[in-house]
Amino acid sequence: MGRTSKDKRDVYYRLAKEKGWRARSAFKLLQLDEEFQLFKGVKRAVDLCAAPGSWSQVLSQKVGGQSSGQVVAVDLQAMAPLPGVIQIQGDITQLSTAKEIIQHFEGCPADLVVCDGAPDVTGLHDVDEYMQAQLLLAALNIATHVLKPGGCFVAKIFRGRDVTLLYSQLRIFFSSVLCAKPKSSRNSSIEAFAVCQGYDPPEGFIPDLTRPLMNHSYETDFNQLHGPARVIVPFVTCGDLSAYDSDRTYSLDLDNGSEYKYTPPTQPPIAPPYQEACRLKKNGQLAKEFLPQECSIDRVDKLSQ
Ligand code: SAM
Repeated sequence: MGRTSKDKRDVYYRLAKEKGWRARSAFKLLQLDEEFQLFKGVKRAVDLCAAPGSWSQVLSQKVGGQSSGQVVAVDLQAMAPLPGVIQIQGDITQLSTAKEIIQHFEGCPADLVVCDGAPDVTGLHDVDEYMQAQLLLAALNIATHVLKPGGCFVAKIFRGRDVTLLYSQLRIFFSSVLCAKPKSSRNSSIEAFAVCQGYDPPEGFIPDLTRPLMNHSYETDFNQLHGPARVIVPFVTCGDLSAYDSDRTYSLDLDNGSEYKYTPPTQPPIAPPYQEACRLKKNGQLAKEFLPQECSIDRVDKLSQ
């Protein structure tokens, strides 16, 4: 497969490189902002699950207006530095990471918390949705410590079977919750974004990092709830009507008439998790382990009887 084939298959991947964004995800945040004016008046922001950093790039350009704002970016993976962005490498579900983030906002709360976090998907939908929900709840817990009243929280969700439960949980803390799908997010993906505006925790709520914010219990089928417990949130698609369709393949010569020229990635990952596998493969060491000679298949069969 040639190096241009991904450019052809994924127009947002190609445009991201051409515009200097580290990832195609930048367009998702930009399209969400077009619809919800997320950055209006924002001076301090937190970018959870930020690597390789395209959302942090967008935030560092948009936050703060004339004066420079403060952006704190957090990820499990190491991320190449970005001017004006404070970086923390850590797991957002861990107490130590949460404490490190919060200390940057003591006395000066954040206006916006975003989380584009995704677990390594297993293909087992229930497991993936559960992991995603846990990540979102960890992000929400951090948000309850750093957001100012009226602040905004935007987080990736998987629109799975139990997503209604998440909406109910988010509605406890925000006056407006809706589900948004930017045009740059593929229709074939269950990914969408919960856009939660107007942070307004229940009276007497005291944020507590030492306990999970909510128990994500699946004992009840929440989609079957009736009355006030059942929350249906508006679904909004965002991105200009003329925006590219992320599920389409485009010709390399786009309609703006300019001739196609290959652009390398803006910032290759600095320590990707697959680095070790690449090293082993290069040295011919990425082979399946063989059983010791004396441990023949017959012997294994006998041992297991
Ligand atoms: N918004 C990013 C951008 O624009 O460059 C892309 C984020 S990428 C889709 C998802 C990220 O979530 C990965 O970098 C991954 O390391 C991070 N992640 C997953 N679980 C995490 C956790 N528990 N704590 C911190 N980061 C996590």
